[in-house]
Amino acid sequence: MADVLSLDHVRLTNRPLIICDIDEVVLEFLTPFRNFLRASGRDLLPRSFRLHGNIVQIESGETVADDLVSALQEEFFLRQQDWQTPAALAVETLAELAGEADIVFLTAMPPRHAAVRRALLDRFSLRYPLVATEDAKGPIVKRLHAGRKLPFAFIDDISRNLHSVREHAPDCLLVNLMVNADFRPLAPDPGEGVTKAGDWTEVARIIRAHISR
Ligand SMILES: [Mg+2]
Repeated sequence: MADVLSLDHVRLTNRPLIICDIDEVVLEFLTPFRNFLRASGRDLLPRSFRLHGNIVQIESGETVADDLVSALQEEFFLRQQDWQTPAALAVETLAELAGEADIVFLTAMPPRHAAVRRALLDRFSLRYPLVATEDAKGPIVKRLHAGRKLPFAFIDDISRNLHSVREHAPDCLLVNLMVNADFRPLAPDPGEGVTKAGDWTEVARIIRAHISR
């Protein structure tokens, strides 16, 4: 059996809980990743809602092979501190929400990148606890909330993650936010039970309406 992911560093108070994805939610991902690719003569084209198959060599127009796409993504995460910046209003809005709720970051990334990400988040005063894992998010959200009688919310750009939380923590408010405007129209509809937000102002409004009930 796989080791159970440790959540010991996450200390919650007796307040509502907001669990928040990082890439494309708190930090820009697609825009800086595109800039990173362009710096080495490649580009990411918004042709469909995936990275694989949409990265091309600028000069030849040739599509980059899948294993190179994965290698480029790995290199980007190693050097994320040189490229990634907060999404508009994310820092300010989270600081305000932190006055009313506990905030936890849940990022789908190999745990080997967690220290680099932690340092990057701290640089932007995003000092909320971070859980970095490639495991499904639903069971982790369920463990974090631990059945308490307190409202909780989950924010993510990827439908798969929202659906995982819908399945394992059906009482959780689900908010879909994707900050990149080029890829947002290509994203599949998140479906039933998920509220779409266009920006952080809207996220705050949706969450406040839920946690102040
Ligand atoms: Mg994301």
